[in-house]
Amino acid sequence: MSNQTELDTIVQAIIDDDVTPELKAGATQLVFGEGNPEAEIVFIGEAPGRQEDVQGKPFVGASGKFLNEMLEMIGMKREDIYITNIVKYRPPDNRDPSPEEKKAFLPYLQRQLEVIQPKVVVTLGRHSMNCFLPDLQISKVHGEPKRVKLSLKGDSDDTLAVVILPLFHPAAALYNPLQRQTLIDDFSLIPAIIKKIK
Ligand code: URA
Repeated sequence: MSNQTELDTIVQAIIDDDVTPELKAGATQLVFGEGNPEAEIVFIGEAPGRQEDVQGKPFVGASGKFLNEMLEMIGMKREDIYITNIVKYRPPDNRDPSPEEKKAFLPYLQRQLEVIQPKVVVTLGRHSMNCFLPDLQISKVHGEPKRVKLSLKGDSDDTLAVVILPLFHPAAALYNPLQRQTLIDDFSLIPAIIKKIK
């Protein structure tokens, strides 16, 4: 089975399992993820916003435009990467996803990573980082690559060795010049990280 076909089965599982029915009821559609299903690098944001909810694709609004600019800066395109969110339905009024909502979607995110088998996972924002590195503070560790064994099934020994690069969220950095520059500087580390693990 191709990676894309396997990813499609995860979409169906989210629908069949009726994950977060309240979020689903308030959303236009599921925003599962997009990009190269064989990517070496996966970007993980928090949850879809308004534009993402309308288009059914992650990071297509203002944050996505900024993300595209940073990708271009390092010579990469959206087609080179895979991009998704922890929570796959838009929370009402763009509120933060709740701990229960993040927990409900985690097994599906783990399955996505198990299929794609990336070498690098870039977390965008603290919610995404804390999914994998719960005890760290983004203000202290942003831009520091961490070698970790990601648990794929929660309770089993199934793990995936990856480098996690925690970054600030592009939305937070968009209107804050200092954080914006920090994010650009951290982002520019990506090519060297990919080169090192090859
Ligand atoms: N912010 C996110 O975290 N994800 C998106 O898809 C868009 C904005």
